[in-house]
Amino acid sequence: MRVYVSTDLEGVAGVVSRETQCFADGKYNEAAKKLLTAEVNAAVEGMIAEEINDILVLDGHGSGGMHYDTLHAAAKLLHGRPLAPKSLRNDIIKEYDVGMIVGQHAMAGVIDGGLNHTQNSRAIVEYKLNGQPIGEIAQTALSLGALGLPLIFLSGDEAACREAESLQPGIITAAVKRSLSRTCAISLAPTAARSLIRDRVSEALGRQRTHPLAPLTWPGPYELEKRFFYTELADGYDDHPLATRIDSRTVQLRSDNILDIIYA
Ligand SMILES: [Zn+2]
Repeated sequence: MRVYVSTDLEGVAGVVSRETQCFADGKYNEAAKKLLTAEVNAAVEGMIAEEINDILVLDGHGSGGMHYDTLHAAAKLLHGRPLAPKSLRNDIIKEYDVGMIVGQHAMAGVIDGGLNHTQNSRAIVEYKLNGQPIGEIAQTALSLGALGLPLIFLSGDEAACREAESLQPGIITAAVKRSLSRTCAISLAPTAARSLIRDRVSEALGRQRTHPLAPLTWPGPYELEKRFFYTELADGYDDHPLATRIDSRTVQLRSDNILDIIYA
């Protein structure tokens, strides 16, 4: 099995602040990146225990969240901003067999979701796909699903794990913190979070061999509604070929192919 790992920073144990930990110029950003990378490395150890030797890690956090110097030797890193076009990356991801997510947060508006947001916390109120509220977990799971990869593992706070479990029943999760609000959480100790991730990743791979999860797909056609905080953000879609303006702050993107709209 070949494993593709998507990463984010807000769902890592010990990460509770956008300004100081998640922004590139934050005082503790470098420290937060080391925490994420150590969680990714724990996942890699869980993979090695299951004899996985082809591992690609995406540096998925907006401004970059991976600490290259400390990356596990068994993993390769897909990184750099701006990222290469989706079509090019999808051709590479397609070669992998299963997907995982490390460090994920819940969708915008989830009351116990630490640092909850969808894509851009200063722009997006919410996304709805075919009428159902979705966040970044569904975006990842459905785009991986369209490429033939099931999402078999996710780590993050309890709210992110719950969101993943309702989306993809049977997924194995590792909750490394319990968020009490958007900016306050009870985190496991770093070493405890890492051993939980390592064990759950091994379990997910073992289970995938005996009781495989199927790639996640929803029936089309697809309508993605994006609601913004500001009208000018919706203005930006006025000439988009797949977009219709719903109201002053909302646009709807429509396609039979989920990959056309899920990150548009
Ligand atoms: Zn995110």
